[in-house]
Amino acid sequence: MYRNGEKCPICGGGKLRKKTAKVSFDYKGTNCVIENFVSHVCSVCKEGIPDPCTLKRADKLLVNHRRKVDRLLTPDEIKSIRASLKMSQAELARELCVAKKTFTRYENGTVAQSRLADAYLRSLRLCPALLEHVKEDRESAPKYHINGRNVWSGEVMYDYVYQRASTNLPNRGREANGQAA
Ligand SMILES: [Zn+2]
Repeated sequence: MYRNGEKCPICGGGKLRKKTAKVSFDYKGTNCVIENFVSHVCSVCKEGIPDPCTLKRADKLLVNHRRKVDRLLTPDEIKSIRASLKMSQAELARELCVAKKTFTRYENGTVAQSRLADAYLRSLRLCPALLEHVKEDRESAPKYHINGRNVWSGEVMYDYVYQRASTNLPNRGREANGQAA
């Protein structure tokens, strides 16, 4: 939070002054208007630094606006789907292949789920038995092997990336050998 008269951190020459305005954002041809948008405007360079509290509030409003335009499930709908599936946030996050933190944000409205995650959640609402079908399908899917370990096909990329990030990897080893030769 900046005080009136504080030096502008951008140009260093001007002084900041608090300004409250109505700001309009465009999303796919629709307007999202944010009232009382607070920013600190410089008297010299005219740059406006949004107030952190305003940014937080605006983020939530913009996400909500996007959900409406894209017709995504609301946070409350997601909560009720999860309740009917009797799953924890961590469990449903794993099912949707997102981090638990991300899923928590779907439910508190600070992040909008992808259309793909939205479609899966809607499918689960219509047919909770899908969870079991998907699980069976995964288990019967052909397995790949990485370092002698069985992995389900969808995990291949994850394993590959994960292994490349650790030290004793087939790839790094090959690169190291190449350099030595
Ligand atoms: Zn300035």
